[in-house]
Amino acid sequence: MNAAHILIVEDEEKIALLIRDYLDNDGFKTTVLDRGDIVEDVIRSTAVDLILLDVMLPGKDGLTLCKAIRKSSNIPVIMLTARVSEVDRLTGLELGADDYICKPFSPREVVARVKAVLRRTRPPLPENELRIGPLALNKDRHTCTLREEELFLTPNEFGILHLLMARPGRVFSRAELLDKVQGYHFEGYERTVDSHVKNLRKKIKNGLPGISLIQSVYGVGYKLNDRFFDSGG
Ligand code: CA
Repeated sequence: MNAAHILIVEDEEKIALLIRDYLDNDGFKTTVLDRGDIVEDVIRSTAVDLILLDVMLPGKDGLTLCKAIRKSSNIPVIMLTARVSEVDRLTGLELGADDYICKPFSPREVVARVKAVLRRTRPPLPENELRIGPLALNKDRHTCTLREEELFLTPNEFGILHLLMARPGRVFSRAELLDKVQGYHFEGYERTVDSHVKNLRKKIKNGLPGISLIQSVYGVGYKLNDRFFDSGG
């Protein structure tokens, strides 16, 4: 399984970089933001598995943010706070943070808490499920979901997407993809791959605005671009 993507929102650079280094060393993927008002945009466009959220932030404070994040997603949130008096509110029903860490803290403690919260909140992937960011394919049930909403794919579209998702970043030739398309197992029909890909893109587009997930590789074929979400499950 790929590394979880941790979003660190902390305006004190020294603290942010210290946490980042420890998480990076432990194999996590990290992004650091130093203000609160860009957090919601970032989590809308990037797959984030957990947010470390400072309370006192420029732009938008951590309490307001936590409340807002909870309304639209269940991404686990660990609050970083210097105010012990706030702790009850943080994890209470009003804000719904998953955990809190009081400053000053050791970076080791942060890593341990991140792991504990992820273990608790991240359901294990079913064996026959492939997931890239918010897009999931389940081979047993033959379903495809994007942001938890089902996309209705034809068997051919499903087969092509399954192959691409199984090896993100790997370029597949039209011939390789054609192999997944039923009924056209001979040369000259490679264009049918293009039309299936075109339909797939159309179906995926609404759920991933501005992101070109299936990329054409000139003269070769197609690949799935997981650059946007290398956070995996
Ligand atoms: Ca701060």
